[in-house]
Amino acid sequence: MNRVAIVTGSSRGIGAATAIRLAADGYQVGVNYLSNNVAANRVVEQIRGAGGLACPIQADASSEKDILRMFEQCESKLGTPDVLVNNAAILKPQMPLVEMSFERINEVLAVNVAGAFLCCREAVKRMSTRLGGRGGVIVNVSSCAARTGSPGEYIDYAASKGAIDTLTLGLAKEVADEGIRVNGVRPGFIYTDMHADGGEPERVDRLKKKIPLGRGGQAAEVAAAIAFLVSDESSYTTGGFIDVAGGL
Ligand code: NAP
Repeated sequence: MNRVAIVTGSSRGIGAATAIRLAADGYQVGVNYLSNNVAANRVVEQIRGAGGLACPIQADASSEKDILRMFEQCESKLGTPDVLVNNAAILKPQMPLVEMSFERINEVLAVNVAGAFLCCREAVKRMSTRLGGRGGVIVNVSSCAARTGSPGEYIDYAASKGAIDTLTLGLAKEVADEGIRVNGVRPGFIYTDMHADGGEPERVDRLKKKIPLGRGGQAAEVAAAIAFLVSDESSYTTGGFIDVAGGL
């Protein structure tokens, strides 16, 4: 039986590493992206080149219409998803809360929180054994920022990750008897493009002295934790979190 995974925001960074890892673990992967079709196609080609199956799926995680289309395309091209990795998220330039606009806060919450909720909803509709599905696994990508609050940088982003943690806890209990496990990973400082969006591309190197392991993390190291939570090796784990943060 084919096993199918959707990884949101998997054209780059942690999502791309996760898509490639899950494909290597035997999943057919829906590679979701917002606008960078070149990067998404590169991930798909890498998976295909290694003998796997994947397809790019453009969809904006802040649009309900797009999310519905993403799941429909995944079903028609690959099959019903067994795995959802809720990874897509944005952050905005560093600033204190006192300077944040209403538009900015809403945009961060729309992508990072509402988008993740809707993706969970669509996944549960298809996975739930109560609704005729064959079960499944959801992994939500949170952040250490949920614990630290990111003062002076992006409290809006940190709070969105706090919401992801609560979503993970609540949904895990809600669907535990429907064949679905729901867990989270909390990356720390990982080398990806995201820090440039915050206005500081070299942020990981600036902060790495504060990390007990003394270095920033690689996207593949986060993907390994996600792959564990997706796999049957974690069959008795739900509502749990793995910090991938070098001891932070
Ligand atoms: P990234 O390198 O900035 O990549 C972001 C990905 O999300 C891209 O594939 C992008 O697509 C996609 N995306 C952005 N907005 C989207 C939208 N509205 N709808 C659909 N897809 C969208 O990010 P990353 O650093 O790998 O982060 C991945 C996850 O890890 C996020 O949840 C982030 O909060 C979390 N995290 C990262 C770090 C870190 O240090 N990097 C630390 C803690 C947590 P395009 O390529 O089309 O733009």
